[in-house]
This record gives sequence, structure tokens and C-alpha cells, in this order.
Amino acid sequence: MHDYDLLVVGSANADLVVGVDRRPGAGETVLGSDLAVHPGGKGANQAVAAGRLGARTALLARVGDDDHGRLLLDSQRAAGVDTVGVLVGGAPTGVALITVDPSGDNSIVVSPGANSRLTPSDVRDAGSLLAAARVVSLQLEIPLETVAAVVRAADAGFGDRSGPRVVLNPSPPAPLPADVLAACDPLVVNEHEARYLLGDDPDGNATDPEAWAAALLARGPRSVVVTLGGAGALVADHDRTVRIPSLPVEAVDTTGAGDAFTGALAWRLGVGDDLETAVRYAVRVGAAAVTRAGAQVSFPTADEVAAL
Ligand code: ATP
Repeated sequence: MHDYDLLVVGSANADLVVGVDRRPGAGETVLGSDLAVHPGGKGANQAVAAGRLGARTALLARVGDDDHGRLLLDSQRAAGVDTVGVLVGGAPTGVALITVDPSGDNSIVVSPGANSRLTPSDVRDAGSLLAAARVVSLQLEIPLETVAAVVRAADAGFGDRSGPRVVLNPSPPAPLPADVLAACDPLVVNEHEARYLLGDDPDGNATDPEAWAAALLARGPRSVVVTLGGAGALVADHDRTVRIPSLPVEAVDTTGAGDAFTGALAWRLGVGDDLETAVRYAVRVGAAAVTRAGAQVSFPTADEVAAL
């Protein structure tokens, strides 16, 4: 009855990366390395992560009618992602302009471009995609009103059928409407996002993620997952809180680890895992992703996860 385990709704960006000896200050010009262009954006990354694992997945996004848009469509298709929901045109493809110095510190300017033109009316037009998915996964690199429209449609369901389960990673963090927060199952946050959402709440200053998770749960989501980098992740719902340790791997590059984790988690929920089991799998996927350089190119296949 469902065509997709997972529908990802979110951003697609071309990452334009230049290595520099020193990142330029105001008014300064520096020479850098050859330009590298990589497919990225949190939505596109999550869909590729799930697709490489073998998920039946689709992406709802918007790219420009340009070379960067074609690069993004190609990378989705190469990962087995259905691109029927990728809209083309309206603005140039989103880009992230990234300079990286030898210590690995970077400066990034994002031009959201077509991502900022993904509208609630696009969501209404894509209602059949949403109805065909068991889980929908979102982030905040597209307009918040579009995210809210997806979450509300999923929560309302389709006639006598319930809509897809909602997984939301609020990144970059922004204030969330109460009904959007309440629909999340889970809300997936890292430390920075947890502290942002907790704002002035004293638990935001706590040092233990258990306190963040409890304080976030009190704001309405059905469940919360806190990612803890090399320490793994924490799963909390209204019954219990469990820490899932990471695998001991040699981390080469953590770029995109959070997207690989969330894409994998959302997919496993879509194939029927309970939340803790899905997080245990996602932790393995995140660990595999940090052992290789890059974002999408570092995401593992299911066989690679099994071999870890
Ligand atoms: P990013 O913004 O870099 O994509 P994030 O801050 O959203 O990441 P993290 O908590 O850094 O998310 O990483 C997501 C998951 O990836 C972690 O929960 C963990 O499972 C895995 N992971 C990240 N770093 C490591 C590491 N050094 N060793 C093993 N696993 C890791």
C-alpha cells in the first residue's frame, strides 16, 4: 500500500569547496585550490543516505534549471532515490560557498536559491507522495512554513488512513510552532540544537543530554533523539531514556554524519523497527560515514554497515 519507506522533504545544495592557506578577512582576496563541487544539502544528503542503504525513498525538493541542479538529480538517482518530487526551476540551485583552511576550520556562505522557493503549495501538489510514504523526514533548510505544511498534512492523515510518521531534525535551529513540535516522533537534535530549542530553560544549561531530552519531551514531541558525536546517541520517549554507544572507529571526516544518521534512522522506522532498534542501526551508519572523507560519498551501503 505504501510505495515509499521514506519521503525526505528538504534542501538540495551544491557545495562549492576551495582549500585556502588562510581564510580571507574583510576586503581581502586570497588564492585557493582548484574548485571542488559536491552534491549536498541536508535533505539531499538524508535521501542519498537512505537510498544507498537500499531504502525505497523519494525526495521532495526544488533545484534550479542549471548544472548544479542536474548534479543533484544525478546523485539522487545514482543512490536509487525516486526524484519524481524534485521540482526544477524558479531560482538557481542552492549553493554553499565553503573555504577550508589547513586546520580544517571553514567559512561557509549559503545561498538558499531554489530551496527558498519550495512552498506550501508545492507540498499540496505533492500530496500523493506524502500519502505513499510510511515516514517523512524534514530539516529546516527550506522555509519553515513549508515544513509546517508537510508536518500538518502528515499529522492530519488521508481520510481513514493515518499519514506518515514525522522525523524532524531542526537544523539550522529555529523556533518551532507547538503543533509541529508535538508531531515529531522523533525530534532529532545534536547538542547545539537541543540548547537552542531549550533557550532560557535551566535544563538547557545542564551538562547531561538526559536533562535536555527530558526538557524537550516536556515541550510536546512524542520522542527525542539526541546525537552525541563520537559518544553515540540518546533515545528518549515518555516511558524511558536509553543511551546507545557509538562504535569505536577512526573518524576521518564527520561532515554529513548527522544527515547519514537521520536518513538511516528514518528509513529503519519506515520498515517497522522500533525507535531504539532504529537508533542502534543509525549509530552504525553514522560511524561508517565518519570513516571516509566527504558527505554523500562517505555514506555506507547496507553491506558495509553489516561488515562494521
Ligand atoms: P554533522 O553536523 O557533522 O553532520 P551532527 O552534529 O548533526 O553532525 P553528530 O552527533 O556529530 O551529528 O553525529 C551523528 C551521529 O554520527 C552520532 O550520533 C554518531 O552515531 C555518529 N558519529 C559522529 N561522530 C562519530 C565518531 N567520531 N565516531 C563514531 N560515530 C560518530
